[in-house]
Amino acid sequence: MPLNSPADDLSRTVVIGAGPAGLTAAHQLAERGLPVSVFEADDVVGGISRTVVRDGWRFDIGGHRFFTKVARVEQLWHRILGDEDFLIRPRMSRIYYRGNLYDYPLRPLNALRNLGPRDSALALASYGWARLRPPRDPDADYEAWLVSRFGWRLYRTFFKTYTEKVWGMPVSEMPADWAAQRVKNMSLAAAVLDAVRPGRGRSDITSLIERFHYPRLGPGMMWEAAARQVVKMGGSLTLNAAVTAVHRSGGQVGAVTVTPTSGEPYQVAADHVISSTPLSTLVASIDPPPPPPVLDAARDLRYRDYLTVALVVPQEFGFPDNWIYIHDPGVRVGRIQNYGSWSPFMVKDGRTCLGLEYFVFEGDDMWSRSDDDLVTLAIAELETLGLVRPGAVEAGHVVRVPKAYPTYDQYYRRNVEVIRAWLAANLPQVHPVGRNGMHRYNNADHSMLTAMLTVENILDGTDHDVWSVNVDQEYHEQTTSAGADAGTDDGPGWARGTGRGAPVVRRAARPS
Ligand SMILES: Cc1cc2nc3c(=O)[nH]c(=O)nc-3n(C[C@H](O)[C@H](O)[C@H](O)COP(=O)(O)OP(=O)(O)OC[C@H]3O[C@@H](n4cnc5c(N)ncnc54)[C@H](O)[C@@H]3O)c2cc1C
Repeated sequence: MPLNSPADDLSRTVVIGAGPAGLTAAHQLAERGLPVSVFEADDVVGGISRTVVRDGWRFDIGGHRFFTKVARVEQLWHRILGDEDFLIRPRMSRIYYRGNLYDYPLRPLNALRNLGPRDSALALASYGWARLRPPRDPDADYEAWLVSRFGWRLYRTFFKTYTEKVWGMPVSEMPADWAAQRVKNMSLAAAVLDAVRPGRGRSDITSLIERFHYPRLGPGMMWEAAARQVVKMGGSLTLNAAVTAVHRSGGQVGAVTVTPTSGEPYQVAADHVISSTPLSTLVASIDPPPPPPVLDAARDLRYRDYLTVALVVPQEFGFPDNWIYIHDPGVRVGRIQNYGSWSPFMVKDGRTCLGLEYFVFEGDDMWSRSDDDLVTLAIAELETLGLVRPGAVEAGHVVRVPKAYPTYDQYYRRNVEVIRAWLAANLPQVHPVGRNGMHRYNNADHSMLTAMLTVENILDGTDHDVWSVNVDQEYHEQTTSAGADAGTDDGPGWARGTGRGAPVVRRAARPS
């Protein structure tokens, strides 16, 4: 039954997770005077968008730009954080390949200059050859698609290595339809024309990609402020407290079990549960359990994991870029952030903090290394790339992030649909939101939007299709005249679309 006003009903909502989605839901509920209890398994708020503080150094999980085309999300950011703390920062990022730095987004003339006359001639010849003799089926896979448009040499330089580092699989095993969405109709000829032709279309695009908002002390500052406001408005927030069971009876959710990091588990009554815990974890925690096909679908969801090594170096080794994509095949690092370029308030004492990002699988050789080994590897790679002088690194900190990327494989859509349909029919008061919460490659803005729409569905009886956020990109979005992308946060491409996609990767057939 929809609630018309807070006075009509004081149903209690439990929110699982204090990341952007969970805190947005709690903020909206508390603002309307509804009782809400947020439980966060970690000892800090912000989820993947938190700011890590180690030894006084502040750094992100990656770098978190605040950019959105969703007006209401933008407004909420500004309500949570005052303008003095919500900086507008310039964006700069380049691609490192064999000792050279290439502009990103790629500018063909800059690329050809960096390649030098010999390699440029070879790249153009390879492009011409690909046009004359394209792969037999350019739509067979992502590699064939790219080679048919750019030729082998440019493909190897600007697409292959980084894409494989991020997703941990050969580009030749990624489907071409992802490329079609991501790289749109970009050909080398179009890119060259775009680079040399003044004006037309470019200013709209560059205005979107060259500046973004960023909290003075990192993204965690936004979520710490949101958490304080939730509590001030009457909500409760408990850290170090994982929700380990969602209890149901007679088609209703009744309570959740909370397991604190130290202490005994306890139960909390709940009329609604808004969940940003990974969808697989949510399903596994439902008591009594859902039927086997639903449990199987949850177990079959896959993830790509991530770790970052933050290295403290003298300021002279900082670079103006927010981050540099590392396309060199000789090192495992995929991207390097300079947190001093994100906000000068993040660094101190004539030093800066560089975040080396590694895309991994939980339990693989990188994940299992000790922190000391990872710091040693990161220092060696930074020196190999020539970005610091040997011996210049002063300290290193490691952060591992399981389930950083929900994986799209050929089964994920069906798995999510099985879970979604079962929840809708059997436990409609349990509402998955956010990124891992919905197994959707959402950025913070779309994660927040799913929470906002969910709260409206609960309180106002609206019928928003929360699952269509970031599928139908225009859903509830205020688009700009450019309609162009701000670039991807997680990876490069010559993207012109929304840039929020991820490839659907193929994996071995599962047992029937
Ligand atoms: C490398 C990288 C770079 C990114 N860059 C950007 C960017 O530039 N801009 C952008 O907008 N987005 C970016 N994103 C995406 C952004 O981080 C996510 O969209 C956002 O954090 C998702 O918010 P969420 O609340 O859905 O989930 P999360 O951030 O994952 O938060 C979920 C929270 O729930 C808690 N939790 C989980 N299970 C339980 C449980 N059982 N009980 C209690 N608590 C639990 C977790 O500890 C966590 O705090 C990036 C992501 C990555 C990996």
